[in-house]
Amino acid sequence: MSRKELIIKTTLNIILIFASLVLIIITPFNNAYNIGMKIFTITAYTFIFITTVIIQCLEEKNAGGYRCPNCKEEHKPTTKEFICSMHIGFKRHLKCPYCNKKYWMPKVFDDEKEKKNNQEDVL
Ligand SMILES: [Zn+2]
Repeated sequence: MSRKELIIKTTLNIILIFASLVLIIITPFNNAYNIGMKIFTITAYTFIFITTVIIQCLEEKNAGGYRCPNCKEEHKPTTKEFICSMHIGFKRHLKCPYCNKKYWMPKVFDDEKEKKNNQEDVL
């Protein structure tokens, strides 16, 4: 996946996550619904919320690897490491399997990797 694709998908997922969260919060105050309808609606929005969060995590995890700023080696974190690590944007605080230290690692996208390989071929 390219950086552009992931940014578009992430933006749409964030909109969906916030919209479902707002609807979960305001549904109990909707007087047009009876109690059964309120419970059904909140359950449906909660399902959308959880599904979108899971899809977003998987898409971001599978979009590429992470490059260690120290040894420049690239690796893919496990799902547990990915979920438990701190992040700012697409940067993550991960443990490098080659030098066994934690660093803030930038994401390496598939399209950027190809570009870099092409540059190396030219040089
Ligand atoms: Zn390293």
